[in-house]
Amino acid sequence: MQKDLVFSRNCIDFIDDAAIHQTLNAAKVDPGRVRAIIAKSMNKEALSVEETAVLLKADSPELTEEIFDAARRLKREVYGNRIVLFAPLYIGNYCINDCKYCAFRRSLRSTVRKTLNETETVAQVEALEDHGHKRLILVFGEHPDYTPEFMAETVRLIYSVKKGHGEIRRVNINAAPLDHAGYKVMKNAGIGTYQIFQETYHHESYTKFHPAHTHKGNYLWRLDGLSRAFEADCDDMGIGALFGLYDWRFEVLGLITHSLHLQQEYNVGPHTISFPRLRPAHGVNIDPRYLVSDHDFKRLVAILRLAVPYTGLIMTARETAAIRREVMQFGVSQIDAGTRLELGGYSEKQNENQELKREQFSIGDVRSLDAVIGELVKDGFIPSFCTSCYRLGRTGEHFMEYAIPGFINRFCTPNALLTLSEYLEDYASESVKQSGYQLINAELSKIPDEKVKKLVSERLVKIQNGERDLYF
Ligand code: SAM
Ligand code: SF4
Repeated sequence: MQKDLVFSRNCIDFIDDAAIHQTLNAAKVDPGRVRAIIAKSMNKEALSVEETAVLLKADSPELTEEIFDAARRLKREVYGNRIVLFAPLYIGNYCINDCKYCAFRRSLRSTVRKTLNETETVAQVEALEDHGHKRLILVFGEHPDYTPEFMAETVRLIYSVKKGHGEIRRVNINAAPLDHAGYKVMKNAGIGTYQIFQETYHHESYTKFHPAHTHKGNYLWRLDGLSRAFEADCDDMGIGALFGLYDWRFEVLGLITHSLHLQQEYNVGPHTISFPRLRPAHGVNIDPRYLVSDHDFKRLVAILRLAVPYTGLIMTARETAAIRREVMQFGVSQIDAGTRLELGGYSEKQNENQELKREQFSIGDVRSLDAVIGELVKDGFIPSFCTSCYRLGRTGEHFMEYAIPGFINRFCTPNALLTLSEYLEDYASESVKQSGYQLINAELSKIPDEKVKKLVSERLVKIQNGERDLYF
């Protein structure tokens, strides 16, 4: 067990399992009430835990369709049709924890272990840049080697790697919870979001999957992780639950409770929520009782969209291409693409075979970034690599995206079009380049403000003439 842990200033365990169960049991599905709750979120107000519970119980085909329809409309209204793209980069899979669902757990001797050295990290980043990526999330096991200083050095190294027009403009982190000093080190390295998944909010299940003698066995240290991050000035936080460990409805209410807690305590909710579903993994054998069906997964995403209208939703390549395509419309704002989970996998010849002993779990969508972008464009989404808000300091409670009316039209959509144009110029296949520019022209004609339209057109010409990194 860790010694001398310093928790956040008002740290409490704000997850009351009995109260969550009680809220779920007490939720009554009256169609009038369900519609009133939907109307509240269409008004862009966050829902309470009780209201979310009512939506979770509303499972008739008719009400489910109404929830799906509302989620689709809300996504369009709040986010427009942009989808932000990123790639995960695994830096090291040594781990002192023993999470039963993970192929990196320490007791699994047959996993191939590796930490990328500087040369290998640079090779991975160059390969990612060669594909067109601008945004990464670094993933680490928990290990004494992966100190905040080591992670911060890795972040700095990655920002310094430039190849051709390629560069990484935003590095997010998914790693173990840190102490206040550790988060400060990460903040100083210029990270974007610090992401920690609680895995399961249900205490008994948490204990079952995370042995008590391990660091991760400390539920409260993890639950409190992003509160400490906030107190150490990391105001851009991502929460998540690993769906499949316990009842998915309970986990949704856990996520909403966590989000409301951060909002109440620090005036800033999480920037993103992730909802990975448990995947098959090397050496992992999990009781399938709580696995989430595709139908329930769609409901889960649509209900999250309605419950937290202003929080980004991340759907990863754990899901298949077909599911991603269908669920995207319910309110997803970010996806990864061209994903490889093997350590060192991006610089190897791209193939669709996965080597499970080298990765944390198997993924469902193995398509290239170009193929994903091609499909998004075909479906009318604008693939975006925009990093403007974070680079201009518009984070935390200052997320202008939502605070200023018309911000999306004036900033987000133009920036999405500019970063898409960079991708089309530098990395796209011929067919994606063609369909991409058709989309850009169609979107340009929809920009309501003539002045903005002119500015965007001028910048698009500059990009075609070789300038890069132009943003509003
Ligand atoms: N080691 C750090 C931690 O556990 O917080 C970093 C993150 S871990 C490498 C990334 C996430 O992968 C975990 O938080 C967990 O939710 C998810 N994960 C682990 N095993 C998985 C599996 N079999 N299927 C899907 N996701 C899994
Ligand atoms: Fe380690 Fe994270 Fe895997 Fe747990 S989920 S075994 S902490 S890498």
